[in-house]
Parts: sequence; C-alpha cells; structure tokens
Amino acid sequence: MSASLAPARPFNRREFLKLTAAASTATMLAPWLRAGQPVATGPSHPFEVAAPLYAWDIHDEGVTQILDNLQEMCAVTSVYLVGVMHPERRPFPDPNGTYPHNPRRHSYQTEDGRSYWLPDVSLYGRVKPRLSDHDWLNRTDWLHVLVEEARKRGLKVGVEFSHTLIDAERMRNEFTDLAQRNIHGQVTTEGRIKWLQPPCPNNPATSDYLRAIGLDAVVNHDVDFVQSCIMSFDPGMPDQGGGCFCAYCKRAAKTIGMDLNKIQSVLLADVHDSAAIAEWTLFRNRSNVLFYRQLSDGIHARKPTVDLRYNAPSPSYCYYGVDLALLRPVLNSVRLTSYVEQQGKPELMAGKRQWLEERRREVGPDFPLIAALGVRLHATEALVEEGIRIALETGMNGITSGHYDCATFDQLRTVRSGLVAAGIPVAPFKTHA
Ligand SMILES: [Zn+2]
Repeated sequence: MSASLAPARPFNRREFLKLTAAASTATMLAPWLRAGQPVATGPSHPFEVAAPLYAWDIHDEGVTQILDNLQEMCAVTSVYLVGVMHPERRPFPDPNGTYPHNPRRHSYQTEDGRSYWLPDVSLYGRVKPRLSDHDWLNRTDWLHVLVEEARKRGLKVGVEFSHTLIDAERMRNEFTDLAQRNIHGQVTTEGRIKWLQPPCPNNPATSDYLRAIGLDAVVNHDVDFVQSCIMSFDPGMPDQGGGCFCAYCKRAAKTIGMDLNKIQSVLLADVHDSAAIAEWTLFRNRSNVLFYRQLSDGIHARKPTVDLRYNAPSPSYCYYGVDLALLRPVLNSVRLTSYVEQQGKPELMAGKRQWLEERRREVGPDFPLIAALGVRLHATEALVEEGIRIALETGMNGITSGHYDCATFDQLRTVRSGLVAAGIPVAPFKTHA
C-alpha cells in the first residue's frame, strides 16, 4: 500500500471511526458470529435506574444506609458492585476533591485489579482473583452483602469488572507470558494508559479467568447482570505499542480467516499503512467478540437469563478495540458512558443527545441501552433533568447514576425529581428497617 495514502498520524477520531465502521460492515454477516440471547425489552419493560457501588463505601456507610439513600433520593431499581476496580483516586475526577458524605474518610486510593468478593477457588485455573491488601476489605464478600440487601428490596443487582482484568504488578511478574506483544514481538511494557497492562485476550488463560469470574458471580452470587468495561487493549496505535501480535493472536486470526503475520509485516514496513491499520483494527474488534463470546457462553450455560452488559467506558471506546455493532450478538445490553452533566455546561448536552442517538441507530431499536448520568461535581438539577429527558427521548432503556460516593445528597435527589419531571413512573420510598 502506498505510504502517500496513509493518513496523517495519529489517527483522528473521525478517520478511526470511518475505518472501524467499514471493517465492521464487512464482517456483519460473518458466520463465526452466533446470535446472542436478547433480554426482553420494549415499551412495557420498566425503565432501569441503576447505581454502581464500591466495597469501601459499603464498608464505610453500611449497605442498608446506602440503599435507603439511593431508593429515597434516586428511586433506583438496580444496583451493582464494582467487583474489580482499576487504580484511581476517589472521589473522581477532581484530584483535590473530598467525599461529600462518607463518614469515615475524605478520599480513597483504589487498588489495582483487586476483587471484592470471596472467590470460589474451584472455578479458577491458573489466574485467581487477587483480594484487597486491606484486612477491612478482604475478609468480607461484598458482592454477597450487596446481593442479599438488594434482594430484600426487590432491586435488580449486578457486578462490574472495571478496566483492569489482572493487576499490573502480577502482569509484570507472575503472568508475563500472558502479556501483549507489540509490533516487534516484544512484551509491551507501557501503553498510552500508564497503569494498564492488559493480558492478551486471545491467550486461553486470560479468557479462562474472565469466564471464571463471571461464573463466580452468576453461580455463587446469583446476580441479574454481569457488566464489563475491561480494557482488553490499550488505546495506542501500533507505533505506540498498541495491539497484540503474540502467537495466540496469530492463531486466533487464522480461525477467523485473517492473517496477522501479513498485517504485521506490512506495518513493520510502514506503520501508518491505512489498509493494514484497518485490518489491524478489525482484528482487535473481532478479538473482543471472541473474548466476550466465551464469557457469554460460560455464564449463559449456567444462568440463561443473566444479562451480559458491556459498559462502553467513554465515547472513545472504539480505541479499545470495541465495535458495538460487531459485539452486539454476544451481549444482552450496553451501558453508554457520558457524564457530561457533571461539567455544568448546558451547551454540551446536545453532543450527548447526538451520541446516544447515533448509538441507538447503530445497534437497532430493540437492543437494550442504558445511558450513564453524571450526578456529581457541577451537575445541577436542570442538567440532571435534561440528561434523563435525553435518555428517554433517544430511546434508552434506563440510566445509571454516577456516582453515589462523589455526589452530594442534594445532587442525588435531582435524579428522583428528574425522573418524575420526565414522566417516568417511580416507586414511593419506604424504609426497609
Ligand atoms: Zn495476543
């Protein structure tokens, strides 16, 4: 391919989307895709109002108090535990922010890739969950605590695996053989996201582990949904260490009729070759489909009604090897993350509306989509109300209020009032003492 056809680097988002869209269309009818198990939705399906929670917040405030607050202030119908978390200072994203209502601490530095349930070791192979370093977190099954309390209240309940599947420390030591290999075949030591060391999703040990944590949630905790925003790939392009060219990836490419060796050799000659970049992008997207299909098959075999939900971590999710149209057949629902309300700028809301409209068109009218809602920082009552109205008008099947730990109680109350203003039926709150 001619170097003159290669786009100016780095790829801007429009070019990248164009390439991924073309690649996606080309494989929409690929025979290796199997139909997923769609969850019932439609006008009669209740509008979901979800909220994520962290183990340390449940420890600090108590599960009863938190769920009382969420039902009273936000009229939630659904809660989930962030069961595996990436490193991040909370409250997020203000680096100097302090918790508005946590009675035990002002802030908290989360640990990398720790699991907040007590694992059933019989389900795991070589990779096992790593528990918190803190005794006050690692002796309690927080998923069990949340599921028990949510069930008493008739709430939907789930678990999320957030960004990091395996912590970077183990990836650099115990699991270097699971590491991704860059275009030169060397272990990728650092990508664009400095704390992220994703294991290769095509390595069987990685997918075995993903399936095992999903099974642990489904079999031992009886969750209604398993949500994942695991970053299977760093968002870097091949010249930035992005992608994986390991032997497992080359084998996986063969099984889906692609030639990763050829893509690699073209990119070694010209790392910006546009046709090879398009193929590389397609391979990453399809690798994610293979990865999630294994999780889907595993958990649905044990609990056919479980909702496998992909959480697109931001509007730039395509940089992580995700093509929603391609991934849709192995999922039951998708959460779309835009917390734009928290910026306090009404002029940004039109962009959110457009993004949600585009995603609805992309996956079709019947596929369940949940919109995130930014209820923290500079979020106002008017913006939260508008965010809920936008979700309704763009055909979303629910919202996820983010995040309880960072929002003031006054901000949390705007969720209930916004739902009422949008004409969405909400249950009156009564205590569950
Ligand atoms: Zn690989």
